[in-house]
Amino acid sequence: MAAKIIDGNQLAQTLRAELAERAAALIATEGVQPTLAVLLVGEDAASQVYVRNKVAACEKAGFRSLRYDFPASVEPVEVLARIAELNADSSVHGILVQLPLPRHFDEAAVLAAIAPEKDVDGFHAENAGALLQGAPRFVPCTPAGVMQMLHRYAIPIAGAEAVVVGRSNIVGKPMALLLLAEHATVTICHSRSRGLAFHTRRADILVAAVGRARMITGEMIKPGATVIDVGINRLPDGKLCGDVDFASASEVAGAITPVPGGVGPMTITMLLANTLAAAEATLGDGR
Ligand code: NDP
Repeated sequence: MAAKIIDGNQLAQTLRAELAERAAALIATEGVQPTLAVLLVGEDAASQVYVRNKVAACEKAGFRSLRYDFPASVEPVEVLARIAELNADSSVHGILVQLPLPRHFDEAAVLAAIAPEKDVDGFHAENAGALLQGAPRFVPCTPAGVMQMLHRYAIPIAGAEAVVVGRSNIVGKPMALLLLAEHATVTICHSRSRGLAFHTRRADILVAAVGRARMITGEMIKPGATVIDVGINRLPDGKLCGDVDFASASEVAGAITPVPGGVGPMTITMLLANTLAAAEATLGDGR
């Protein structure tokens, strides 16, 4: 295997230790414990796991977490009322609604109900707009985690050809904006892009955020490229794999993230970072 492994587990551990230290200092000096409220609607198995992991990561870092579970049949107004309460509670710094929501919810309306200064997922239109305008407040956790990986592994970004496959509001679009802000030349590909391999082969930095198991193969990658695999796909045998075919890609790439153990642990780490930043931002503004 040629490629260097970008180890998300190890990096996440280092960063979480730094965040835990900062949280402890905030508690000691200001009496403020960073607090994240997580709302989960329904019984989706994957969402249950994500929420459990987020709550556990908070507690391990010395943050306070509040968890609110609602049945799938809950009236949206009830969830909105809880969000309003949490918005008004000055001891709560971050509010996260686990997506996806059941069909009878207007997801955009729920995200819009979260106070932008507590929107630690960075999905509120105000925070998305701030990122677009180059003055980000809360950046969505997954692309923020990818940027940390690129920085900490000293991957050159300015002037690099960066190709992002996927254009969701949660990953692809903010990822492209973050790379652009650091002066990469960015191409965004999606399901209607023609000749995907033509684009991916030009990439010095290739980010795959699609949700299709192993769709990016070694021959689609420029030799020496940095390959970031955001995808999480469950195989018929129950194992997880990314959007990148790791076996062939790691023969060609210069650096690559594995799945699991790559971007996933960084996403939760950035959630902690955003929650801590939200808590720190409340100091001195009288709340
Ligand atoms: P979405 O389903 O919202 O978006 C997928 C994107 O991929 C869309 O823009 C779609 O294009 C594009 N796409 C679909 N098929 C193709 C194709 N054949 N060629 C090129 N592009 C294609 O997914 P998310 O962005 O929410 O998530 C992407 C993946 O990342 C998933 O596997 C998800 O589980 C994972 N994920 C991982 C996280 C982590 O922490 N590691 C966090 C969040 C997500 P179009 O817009 O045209 O439909």
